[in-house]
Amino acid sequence: RGSRIAMVYQDPMSSLNPVHTIGRQIIEAITIHRKVNRREARDRAIGLLTEVGVDRPVERLEAYPHQFSGGMRQRVVIAMALAGNPAVLVADEPTTALDVTIQARIIDLLDRIVAEHNTAVLLITHDLGVAAGFCDEIHVMQNGLIVESGSTDSLYAEPRHPYTKGLLGSVVDLNTDVTKPIPTFDAENGSGPQAPITTGPRPAAVPREPAPDAPALITVESLVKSFPLGRDTLRAVDGVSFTIRRGQTFGLVGESGSGKSTVSRCLLGLTPADSGAIRFDSVDVAGMSRSELRPIRRRMQMVFQDPFAALNRRHTVRQLVTAPLDAHHVGTPRERRERATEVLSLVGLGPELHDRLPRELSGGQCQRVAIARAVVLRPEFLILDEAVSALDVSLQAQVLNLLRDLQEQFDLTYLFVSHDLGVVRYMCSEIAVMQRGRIVEQASRERLFAEPREAYTRALLAAVPTANPAVERARRSEREELPA
Ligand code: ADP
Ligand code: MG
Repeated sequence: RGSRIAMVYQDPMSSLNPVHTIGRQIIEAITIHRKVNRREARDRAIGLLTEVGVDRPVERLEAYPHQFSGGMRQRVVIAMALAGNPAVLVADEPTTALDVTIQARIIDLLDRIVAEHNTAVLLITHDLGVAAGFCDEIHVMQNGLIVESGSTDSLYAEPRHPYTKGLLGSVVDLNTDVTKPIPTFDAENGSGPQAPITTGPRPAAVPREPAPDAPALITVESLVKSFPLGRDTLRAVDGVSFTIRRGQTFGLVGESGSGKSTVSRCLLGLTPADSGAIRFDSVDVAGMSRSELRPIRRRMQMVFQDPFAALNRRHTVRQLVTAPLDAHHVGTPRERRERATEVLSLVGLGPELHDRLPRELSGGQCQRVAIARAVVLRPEFLILDEAVSALDVSLQAQVLNLLRDLQEQFDLTYLFVSHDLGVVRYMCSEIAVMQRGRIVEQASRERLFAEPREAYTRALLAAVPTANPAVERARRSEREELPA
């Protein structure tokens, strides 16, 4: 182990010891496998860091893991795995915790290692785009069994097993037809593509475009929010302005740390802004107190990324959905109960689930409870902050279809926050791209994806994996021409 077979895990932080320097950890990995003196080990460590693309390797040897970004940490872990010159590298979701641009570079790095050292890689991933670009051969697992195997090209071109078909059918990427609902399937039972779960009289179809004369529901002007960072301050949001019209789905994309969640929290008054204006339906809410905000807060709700963390674990599904009605004294207890039942059936959660606790639900069911709770007060505006990011493709498809349905039925306005450009393209008619606290580009879906103007937008787009092997190979070579 280590010299013939080495492993790279999803979370680089848990593979590194936080109290030891990077240098010490790599040197240790080297000396386990080889009889070398300290000097040779140190030189080899510098060589490995250079090979995995860490800049200024000599200085970096003295640094600690927390001083590295997520992508750099994963490079260090790969360097340690390479220390023994393994014949086989097992990479278990090596890029799942990383941003798309960094993911693309790590995959390119693994590709180079394969080419230069003739290493075999077992790549474990839930991402069909990543697998399409990297793998020669694929095995599809479901419930502990390999249900289908084949060369990458034939598997994507002609999937045979219903589960593989279902998975590929539910992918949302830059080629997805935005005018159709996403085909969904039952991942647990492995039946093939099913009719989409639609809730209302109208099926989820063409994405919502606001009427040309739709009034502004949200106006943000020169929003600024800083946080203390050591002796400095960090401008998490640095002068952001945008307008969301009634009935629109407005997308906010950018890599982690770009300030998307801070903007969302400022809009709801969960985080006070330093300066700037936020108007909701022409009322300035930026400087309002909690009690002034209360009647307005009812009209705007939020759904977060992690459904488990967002739900009180001791409350049943029914209690969770009734709670906002209780808090705002809506109707009689009986009417509240009826309204909760109605909304739960709308999001596809039947009565058999109403007395369950969050831990007795799947991730997708939890997210539907969170959505039911957000819409039960009949809000006008919903902020969806990475609301589908933690879900598998089959659940993601169900939730996206559901959100479109609910929007049709209740004439909702969405702020859809995501790091996933494929999903944003599917959902949003207008999109703003954030980088380091600023909006660097804003455009309609048609314009942004057809002719991105900013280098940063182009880099983001070039990094989004597509579940199509030929397309992925072509984009890989395109990417090599982009500056780092
Ligand atoms: P995103 O949602 O785009 O990933 P966030 O809005 O969460 O980004 O964060 C933007 C920046 O602000 C990050 O650098 C983050 O570390 C920092 N930040 C966010 N919230 C706080 C906080 N409560 N205290 C200090 N720094 C914060
Ligand atoms: Mg966020």
